[in-house]
Order: sequence, then C-alpha cells, then structure tokens
Amino acid sequence: MIVIIGAGPAGLSAAYHLGDEEYTVLESEAEPGGLCRSFDLGGATFDLGGHAFFTKHDDVRELVEQLCEPGVYAQPREAWVHSHDTFVRYPFQSHLHGLPSEVVEECLVGLYEAARRQPLAAPPANLREWIELTFGPGIAARFLLPYNEKLWAFPLTEIAPGWTSNRVVTPDVAAIVGGALRPDRFSDFPNAVVRYPATGGFANLYQGFLRTVGDRIRRHDVVEVRPGESTVRVEGGATIDYDHLVSTMPLDELVRRTDGLDDCCRDAAAELRHNSLHLVNLVFDRPAMTEMQRVYCADPDIPFHKLVLNSNSNPELRARPCFGIQAEVSFSAHKRVDPEGLPDRVLAALRRIGIAGADDRVSAASVVTVPRAYPVQTPGTVEARGHLLEEFRRRRIHCAGRFGEWLYINSDDAVLRGRVRAEEILADRAGGSVD
Ligand SMILES: Cc1cc2nc3c(=O)[nH]c(=O)nc-3n(C[C@H](O)[C@H](O)[C@H](O)COP(=O)(O)OP(=O)(O)OC[C@H]3O[C@@H](n4cnc5c(N)ncnc54)[C@H](O)[C@@H]3O)c2cc1C
Repeated sequence: MIVIIGAGPAGLSAAYHLGDEEYTVLESEAEPGGLCRSFDLGGATFDLGGHAFFTKHDDVRELVEQLCEPGVYAQPREAWVHSHDTFVRYPFQSHLHGLPSEVVEECLVGLYEAARRQPLAAPPANLREWIELTFGPGIAARFLLPYNEKLWAFPLTEIAPGWTSNRVVTPDVAAIVGGALRPDRFSDFPNAVVRYPATGGFANLYQGFLRTVGDRIRRHDVVEVRPGESTVRVEGGATIDYDHLVSTMPLDELVRRTDGLDDCCRDAAAELRHNSLHLVNLVFDRPAMTEMQRVYCADPDIPFHKLVLNSNSNPELRARPCFGIQAEVSFSAHKRVDPEGLPDRVLAALRRIGIAGADDRVSAASVVTVPRAYPVQTPGTVEARGHLLEEFRRRRIHCAGRFGEWLYINSDDAVLRGRVRAEEILADRAGGSVD
C-alpha cells in the first residue's frame, strides 16, 4: 500500500499518476485542495491568497486544463502598483513613466550607478544587497525594498539572495529606461497571461483530479510516522501500513512527527522559516469596481502588500452583483500584525488609494489566516532541506510540494513534483530507477 499525506495539488497529482496502484490519501482538512482551496463570502468567491495559473511546463498545463471541468479562462494579467499616490503597471521597475519626475530621476540615476558597478567583485550576500546591486538605490528605496520587506515580513538581510531573484522581474536597462520615457506596457515575464477556472474559484482547477482519486481520500490527521515499522498513526489511534510514503505535509512538521530521527534532523528542521498571512476579505454591494486584478503596494502606512481583485478572475465572477476584494497582510515573529480591526484599516486604505469610494458599502467582511504562506530561504535553508530530504528518502519517505520540500513553488510545480514522486515509486516497484 502506498500512503500519501495531503490532498493538495502535490498529493492529488502523486495519487493521479499512481494509476492502478493500491494507495490511499490521508488529508487532515475537511476539503481537499490544500492552499488551492476557495471559499464563498456574501456572494463573492475568494482563494487562500491571490491565485492564478501560469506555467512553463506545457504538459502540466495540458493535464490541468484537460481535467478542469468548467474549462479554463485565459486573460492578460492586469497587475498594477500603487506608488507615490498614483498607479503604474506592474512590475514597478519597468513602468516608471507616470511617477513624479524626481522619483523617475532618482530611479534612473541609481540604475546607471548599478550598471557602472558591473561586473561585481563579489556576489550579493542577501536579498537586500541583490536588489540594491541589480536595480540601484533609487528603484530599491522607492519600491523593491519596502515592498519585499512587507511581503516577506523578514529582514531582507536574512533572506538568501537567490531565493526570490528568479521571481523578481529583471528587465534590461534599455527596457527600464524605455518604460520611464514612454507609457509602454512591458509584458516579457512568465505570468503576463494568467489562467483561472471559467467559473467559481481557483479550487475548481484541481477538483478534476478528484474524479479519479476522490474515493481514495480519507480524512485523517497523520500524527506519527514510524519508518522503522513502515506505519503511520492517525489522530484517534488507528495505524496504517505502507510500503512507500509520499509526504506533502510541511517538512518541519514531518520531522516533529517522525520516530527515530537524530538531533541533526531536528537541528535542520529548526533552520526552516516561513511567513504567514492574514487575508482580509471585503465584499462590496456593487459590481465592477475596477478592471485591475492585482495591486501591489510598498507604502508602510498601508496595511497590505497586495490586493487581489478576485471578481475579475473570470467572466462568471465578474457578472455577479457584488465585488470581492482580498488584501494580503504578511506577518511573522519579526512583524506582528493584530487582526483585530484589520477590515476597517484595509477599507480606509482602499478609500485612500481610490479603489473604493466614500459611498461604497461593505456587505460582508472576514479575516482568514494562513499560518504557512511562503517558505522563506535563509542562508541555512539549502543545506537543511537537502539533509532532511535525503534522510527521508533513505527511509522510503518521498517528500513533495511547497512546504513538503520547502520550496517557493506554485501549484504547477507542486503537480509536477507529485508526478515525479509517483514515477519514482512506480520505477522502484518495477525494479528500475528514475533520474
Ligand atoms: C498567497 C499565495 C498565493 C499563491 N499564488 C499562487 C498562484 O497564483 N498560482 C499558483 O499556481 N500557486 C500559487 N500559490 C501556491 C500554491 O497554493 C501552492 O504551491 C500549492 O498549493 C502547493 O501544493 P502542495 O500540495 O505542495 O501543498 P498544500 O496545498 O499546502 O497541500 C498540503 C496538504 O497536506 C495536508 N496536510 C498537512 N499536514 C497533514 C497531516 N499531518 N495529515 C494529513 N494531511 C496533512 C494539508 O491539509 C494540505 O491539504 C500561492 C500560495 C499562496 C500562499
């Protein structure tokens, strides 16, 4: 029997790709979907943070599209930045046109200084240095540093430089200068076109897996893993045998719940860091408040770093008589945020930046907390996760997914990594191996 812990995209994909093998999926929550679940509030639909589908893996896109029953709706991404009392397109560094002239000047002079320092004598030591050395002090101070500080809720000097650098759009100097001189639309980045289920929330994208694997999902919280006897114990005391185990539960939690690991593993788990999110969901009693889908905000006086205008994710949500706006507010031990009164503070900020008018009425509001939102990579993370993944692999425990492998990945990569774990198990059973 193959046991899969977790019915998020990685676990669902592992199960799906095991085909006719004997397996069971153990999921602690009432609903499958993991971080890709959706919920309704006052007639609007929200996700667990702003979700849209984009991928560089064509085979994953084809599979997900083929399984998604309502069909998939694709549209250009309408992402904006609110900065210096105006809106410019995302990413900030490519759309300086329209900002106050002194800001544009500071950004371009800084960019010139950064370009003159290339090639660098030594690589940047942390994310803060990477931003300053790549974009120069102007773009760094005017947006990228305060934005990333808000998003990560960690001192940027504690984040490894390579961690997010592949997710920060890095246009060349000519594109940045062009974007400062003209109102060009820069769209040379991976999620310029985004996909979303044609009806309902993002959760519908992964519901299609349930047609194949749904009847093998059992609601169980795995509280103990005993590799020595190849069993897992679930809350309530029952024990389930396995010959292969796929774990998509958070890696640090897996260490805490696994028998017989040495202190090295516990020390490695202590190196793993993440942040959390309060999602402030507001429903307005009128449709079509804006065409924007996302708004990014670095201003420290505004509580959120990102707004998700989820009613614009597909035509069905757009046609509803209400408009749902979700504000993402990161927090961590470094940055505490009191959820009390957050909806009022978010509403005041929406009015301040002009997304909501003084007469726009909120008909429903909630705060949903996501305890594990983004894994954060400190300088110690690479070694720690490498050690843990190897220790588990030796014990025939295959880790997969965002927190399962402690990687900053989206759902498309979670699907891919679930598939790879299934292929490894199938190859092992067939007496071969997969590279
Ligand atoms: C704010 C935010 C925005 C995002 N935006 C996007 C986006 O735009 N596009 C995109 O594709 N992705 C996005 N993602 C990422 C996406 O949500 C994740 O990559 C994806 O859900 C990871 O899938 P997973 O299966 O690895 O983990 P999860 O979705 O976390 O699933 C893990 C599952 O394991 C279960 N579990 C945990 N412990 C146990 C236990 N002990 N016993 C049993 N079950 C257990 C959990 O309940 C959960 O269901 C975003 C994530 C966040 C937080």
